[in-house]
Amino acid sequence: MQNSVSEFLRLRQDADDGLLLRLLSEEPQDDTALYEAADAVRRTWYGDAVYLRGLIEFTNYCKNDCYYCGIRHGNTRAQRYRLTADEILDCAAEGYRLGYRTFVLQGGEDPYYTDERLCEIVSALHREHPDCAVTLSVGEKPRESYQAYFDAGARRYLLRHETADAAHYGRLHPASMSLENRKRCLFDLKEIGYQVGSGFMIGSPYQTPECLLRDIRFLQQLCPDMIGVGPYLTHPDTPFAGMPSGDLKRGLRILSMLRLLFPKALIPATTAFGTVAPDGRELALKAGANVVMPNLSPVRVRKLYSLYENKICTGEEAAECRGCLERRIASAGYQAVTSVGDPAGSAR
Ligand code: SF4
Repeated sequence: MQNSVSEFLRLRQDADDGLLLRLLSEEPQDDTALYEAADAVRRTWYGDAVYLRGLIEFTNYCKNDCYYCGIRHGNTRAQRYRLTADEILDCAAEGYRLGYRTFVLQGGEDPYYTDERLCEIVSALHREHPDCAVTLSVGEKPRESYQAYFDAGARRYLLRHETADAAHYGRLHPASMSLENRKRCLFDLKEIGYQVGSGFMIGSPYQTPECLLRDIRFLQQLCPDMIGVGPYLTHPDTPFAGMPSGDLKRGLRILSMLRLLFPKALIPATTAFGTVAPDGRELALKAGANVVMPNLSPVRVRKLYSLYENKICTGEEAAECRGCLERRIASAGYQAVTSVGDPAGSAR
């Protein structure tokens, strides 16, 4: 991408549909200027800090059947697990010992974890680690449930919209799910007062440049605190088995564009980037990302949380995982930071 286009995006933090569609359609060649512009913007707001969030994948049961997901309800080959409340608290205690001050509880939409059970876990985490931020990523819920988790002490919520094009949404999800409800959830979360993370897959089946443009426009409407994107990766035990996965260069281009359009956003270098290329997360950091989420889940369940094939980082204990990521972050020219790490300019 030309220098002048990167500079235009940096200064305007927006562009018209025509320019965005061109950038989303063309095959990325040399995007060095774009990565450098994105990196300069992230350094303006965050310096060289890369925030670490301790991830606890506590259940791979899910009542939903998203066509792209390896732990969808209909995948009878998935070996299911749930962590007990004590196991979750043990993971957090180990994370705390390693210095983490943010925990992300992530799971499928598992009816076993009623609001009451989840609130108990969130309250206990909050009680034991009052200086930490508790993040939830447990899918679509009624507004009252989100309010109850907030009242129990959760302050951040991750829920990717996955695609903001209703027709595309219908090709990725069964008829029981809707883009309308996904959006309702995200706006409810914002209104309640959560720091909200959303995002989408890059290169998912049937995705067009117009879908990606809608994703950007929707994010501009939502103004999330965190934006998670990564290349779509195919899982063999889903209806999309055999569909091609997304590619690294397009993923990096879109990540950099998002940094220029949303200068203060927290943008993770996702595991999906590290799965499409051995140095994918380092490249994502250099292209504007400023968060990584090391895994704190017990090693015995890591491989079972298999959203897509060949997921990385399933073999190391939490401490090894942290050491490995810190080395990768340093090799890319940044510094791992374990503080709570609110978004720039946030008063929360
Ligand atoms: S993407 Fe999320 S909601 Fe959909 S099947 Fe997978 S875990 Fe469940």
